[in-house]
Amino acid sequence: MINEIREPLVFEISAAGKRAVELPALDVPEKRDLLAGVPVRREIEGFPEVSETEITRHFTRLSQKNYCVDMGFYPLGSCTMKYNPKVNERLCALPAFAGSHPLAPADLVQGNLELIKTLETCLCRIAGMDAFTLFPAAGAHGELTGMMLVRAALEARGNARKIVLIPDSAHGTNPSSAHICGYTVREIKSNEKGTIDLASLEREMTDEVAALMLTNPNTLGVFESDICRIAEIVHSRGGLLYMDGANMNALTGIVRPGDMGVDVMHINLHKTFSTPHGGGGPGAGPVGVKKELEPFLPLPVVTGKKDGRYALDGDRPRSIGRIRAYYGNFAVLVRALCYILSLGPKGVREIAEYAVLNANYIRKSLEGEYDLKYKTPSLHECVFSDKLQKEYGVTNLDIAKRLIDFGLHPPTMSFPLIVHGALMIEPTETESRRDIDIFIEAMKAIAREAKENPQVLHDAPHVTYVRRLDEVAAAKFPVLRWEKKD
Ligand SMILES: *Cc1c(COP(=O)(O)O)cnc(C)c1O
Repeated sequence: MINEIREPLVFEISAAGKRAVELPALDVPEKRDLLAGVPVRREIEGFPEVSETEITRHFTRLSQKNYCVDMGFYPLGSCTMKYNPKVNERLCALPAFAGSHPLAPADLVQGNLELIKTLETCLCRIAGMDAFTLFPAAGAHGELTGMMLVRAALEARGNARKIVLIPDSAHGTNPSSAHICGYTVREIKSNEKGTIDLASLEREMTDEVAALMLTNPNTLGVFESDICRIAEIVHSRGGLLYMDGANMNALTGIVRPGDMGVDVMHINLHKTFSTPHGGGGPGAGPVGVKKELEPFLPLPVVTGKKDGRYALDGDRPRSIGRIRAYYGNFAVLVRALCYILSLGPKGVREIAEYAVLNANYIRKSLEGEYDLKYKTPSLHECVFSDKLQKEYGVTNLDIAKRLIDFGLHPPTMSFPLIVHGALMIEPTETESRRDIDIFIEAMKAIAREAKENPQVLHDAPHVTYVRRLDEVAAAKFPVLRWEKKD
């Protein structure tokens, strides 16, 4: 297992005068006046000077130090890192989509507008909502948009209210979004089942409360089975129910948030509907609403005109305004629609069926080997802890790092906060039985090692270029650009 990496450690390979490409000398008269007035750069200062072989090897080597979902299993719980069909990449790169100008008038981009309208319709059907805006650029951006809609709708009723309730199992973006929108956040405790404690909700849900922000299934992967009662309590005191639908891949085609009393929600297209994500890449967090909130939707709203042509409606006086330039991250919308249409209704249901089956297969296979704090049945992800391994001085960090030696990406660690030493595993619907078995065997082997040879876990990973890095420094002071050293 312990391989020494023999690789040149040289990172600085620039040497004065080296070139990747040598063009022949100009053998026609130089027509500089053709470019008169255009700023033309003759030399670029401070670039590394390398040969073609060197630069190719440099970037190829760097790419191989990276782990990605195209290489193997990537069970980051809550993040939903799944394999996405390459055909959707091809379709969103079609020149007619990729090359259309964001400022083109509606008449010239009828196809794009039809795509937006069709995706809105699909999401309305899948989520049971009355309307969607597709333009928020991420889940957190969708939350902020959704909370702005809540504020606008309550203001229209006469009082925006002051407080937003959020369960202690929530994703960290929920309290931030409510706070940025000017609300005071109050936490609701989870009960021993890992779901919302109804008695606390009854107590906290006063006429000062604007909304409850609920993730369903929550970050333990547990479905809030009291959701209809929860919606009743919130509505009876004049509040609105916000659903964080980032975990929609546990529900698609089976139940619809709109039918459960949800007034406003977001979906992460980059988790459920075929956009690869990670590294902060572009995503989309469409927001769905019920009728009452529709007049406040952000601009522009795409409408279908009577003559069959689509238009952009900017004349909506009650709208919260623009929340994103142009039409959001359009290529993400193309991928989502392709995914939904290529799967069809039966396939959309299978997303949830396989996501849940795969997670429960892992949960059952590792029960007993790892501690499960919450015994409640879970859907698309399962949350173990390092409690059993702690007896041997092994932590969730050791387990995560050791998985790297097995060629696997670690699961999400130390989240949700209500599980100490959490290992949150989400296989998604796209993993095969064979790949999941490889993961399960690795986790079992690590549980054995924790008892027999904990030191090998403390020292892990053994096979990577860097071992345990200073993650805070790596995040706070990243070196993203080569700089010439004199
Ligand atoms: C991922 C996630 C978010 C945030 O989505 P981003 O696109 O990363 O901003 C919010 N809530 C839950 C439950 C999530 O899993």
